[in-house]
Amino acid sequence: MYELVIIGAGPAGMTAAVYAARKKLNTLLLSYDIGGQGLTTWLVENYMGYQFIEGRELMQKFEEQVKQFPIDMKTGERVSNLSRIDGGFEVRTDKSENYQAKAVIIATGKRPRQLNVPGEGKLKGRGVTYCAICDGPLFGGENVAVIGGGNSALEAAEDMVKIADHVYLVSLTHLTGDQILIDKVKSANNLTMFLEHEVLEVKGESRVEGIKIRDLKSKQERELYVSGIFIEIGLIPNSEPFKGIVRLNRLGEIEVNCADETGVLGLFAAGDVTNVPEKQIVVAAGEGAKAALKAHHYLQRLSK
Ligand SMILES: Cc1cc2nc3c(=O)[nH]c(=O)nc-3n(C[C@H](O)[C@H](O)[C@H](O)COP(=O)(O)OP(=O)(O)OC[C@H]3O[C@@H](n4cnc5c(N)ncnc54)[C@H](O)[C@@H]3O)c2cc1C
Repeated sequence: MYELVIIGAGPAGMTAAVYAARKKLNTLLLSYDIGGQGLTTWLVENYMGYQFIEGRELMQKFEEQVKQFPIDMKTGERVSNLSRIDGGFEVRTDKSENYQAKAVIIATGKRPRQLNVPGEGKLKGRGVTYCAICDGPLFGGENVAVIGGGNSALEAAEDMVKIADHVYLVSLTHLTGDQILIDKVKSANNLTMFLEHEVLEVKGESRVEGIKIRDLKSKQERELYVSGIFIEIGLIPNSEPFKGIVRLNRLGEIEVNCADETGVLGLFAAGDVTNVPEKQIVVAAGEGAKAALKAHHYLQRLSK
């Protein structure tokens, strides 16, 4: 039985791992990937110590730091269930592996929200993408659509007007992002906005060929001929495997107190998967550190 299992190797999980290792806890870091959302971030300008650094490079540096310590790491497995057992917890993964620990930190972050319209699933990776930063350069000189009206969508649109031939920005609402981004996007001469429009369908057989949209007011439908669609409509917490054991808020985030405690003894949560506001790398890393220190205190008390 491990003393501590940390689920998720984004900024929160990897920072927790370093803090746990420095306390010499027998720790397993268990994650689907290493880097989390940091891998989909182009330039990070707000992580202290670096004026700017690519998200991928920053996550590599996190990983190198974790690997300086003798902790077990397992990747490529998704946790599917967490339950209480005598003396701690059992973590089950989609590869039918079981791990047991006296304490657990959940740091599973968030993932992009889907539109859930016909064609989206079939054409994922064939023109349908959730990361303009990662996939934008693949659509040089083509027509693309960006879906969403918040900061992520506006940033994606701002990037894509420099790369694509023409960009359609389709939003269910008026634009809700920062004014500075709205102004930049509005000044582009190769961008057309369809506000208060919904996406009905992604069209295409083996690749995206277009999208069907509908005006919410007039109900008029139209088709936009695009080869790429960037869906930027927010993120949802990766909290499903933990539904039965922790309290979730209405957004599906794990509720924690200011010490990252979930209310279940020995079970902590940190980073974007929690109700802690301001989803940022530096915040997630700080919360990961706090959770590991709190888990250490808990394990010390347990052994007395
Ligand atoms: C496009 C974009 C740009 C951003 N730009 C910035 C920026 O410039 N500056 C900034 O500070 N922040 C930025 N952010 C926010 C920042 O990336 C997040 O706040 C931060 O990554 C959260 O860290 P986390 O460790 O909580 O979660 P995540 O980074 O989401 O990591 C979660 C980890 O958990 C793993 N995981 C998930 N579910 C499971 C499961 N069931 N089983 C096992 N493992 C699992 C994942 O594989 C991943 O390793 C950006 C985010 C996005 C999407």
